[in-house]
Amino acid sequence: MVSNNAYERITGMILRDELRPGTRINIDQIAHQLDVSATPVREALARLESDGLVTKVHLKGYSTAEMLGRRQLEELYELRLRLEPYSAGRAAVKATQAEIDSLHAELASCTVAPVRSDYDSYKRFSAHDARLHALILEIAGNSLISQAIERTHFHLHAFRLSYDASAGTHTLDEHSAVVQAIAAGDNKAAVRAMSNHLESSRNRLLPRASDESSPLDDAATSR
Ligand SMILES: [Zn+2]
Repeated sequence: MVSNNAYERITGMILRDELRPGTRINIDQIAHQLDVSATPVREALARLESDGLVTKVHLKGYSTAEMLGRRQLEELYELRLRLEPYSAGRAAVKATQAEIDSLHAELASCTVAPVRSDYDSYKRFSAHDARLHALILEIAGNSLISQAIERTHFHLHAFRLSYDASAGTHTLDEHSAVVQAIAAGDNKAAVRAMSNHLESSRNRLLPRASDESSPLDDAATSR
């Protein structure tokens, strides 16, 4: 699908930082660059706006979103730390053998940390991380919690912040500890392992976020 393709390609340009944060997006220029008409570019931008990767300003058009600031990142982790350790604990109590098997399969699907600034390996790793966390929330069984986490588009923001860093090996070990605790049916260990993973992940990402408050805040309040 052409529109989908434009979406994938523009997403890549933003995540790879080829379109810098806060850059005005010229629809005709992007359409020319991608060799498509303006319509699929407009459709892609509308979708990217709901992903939080571009912002639309009335009468001015689209710009790439600013990177998350420290405060926004702290808030995201606060939300995740409230909901995900609890959910991992619930998953430990509720998981069926088939669900435990699917957690192990997800772990096995990504055993290598991403290579610094290699878009495809980052993309695979980020998608795996998103799937594993979503799967644990799904097993825990509260669809409102799943939706609340999904709506933050955390993984896209984290991708932008960590793309030029080398990370991942710690993440893989932490994920494995979470899955082991769930597989063992150990509620407390699962809560602890997920808290530990999210706190470590927050500590890895926070130094990469800027101190300035982001114009995203203004966009959110003016909506
Ligand atoms: Zn993770």
